[in-house]
Amino acid sequence: MAHGAEARTWYGTMPVQFRYTPGTAGLRFFETLKKKGTLAATRCAECGKTYLPPRVYCENCFADLEGSWIEVEPRGLVHTFTLVHLDREGRRLRQPEIAAFVRIDGTDGGLVTRLLNVRPEDVRIDLPVEGVLLPPRQRKGVLDDIAGFAPIGSGAPPRRPRAR
Ligand SMILES: [Zn+2]
Repeated sequence: MAHGAEARTWYGTMPVQFRYTPGTAGLRFFETLKKKGTLAATRCAECGKTYLPPRVYCENCFADLEGSWIEVEPRGLVHTFTLVHLDREGRRLRQPEIAAFVRIDGTDGGLVTRLLNVRPEDVRIDLPVEGVLLPPRQRKGVLDDIAGFAPIGSGAPPRRPRAR
């Protein structure tokens, strides 16, 4: 039996582009974000789990969640974060962005986002943050309608250090 180190290998690249539909739950999430600026989630009446992103059935107890919608404010706590120095094409950013996973208040889930209005040295786990949304007329019903999350009360317009 061949070990991995002995196997014959070659290198190659596979450029992959894809599109996928958001599904019924994802569609409602994006439409709610666009119209109301809130986050649509589903809460299981059987086991109490609250899904964000929303699910149409409970992955814990398999209950149907089609009629179990709630809305929560885009607010939560930094669960984890990292500094990003390169953009998606590998170009160096003028200044690093902070990518974070934010646990959303009132749910068992969260969102991957960028942090705004905070210096890397000031970010910490459990930092309270709120969503910085595009103005309603500019929203398209996509995740980028949320420019990022910023410390609650940081007030100033969001800084968006982008290479674009
Ligand atoms: Zn459940």
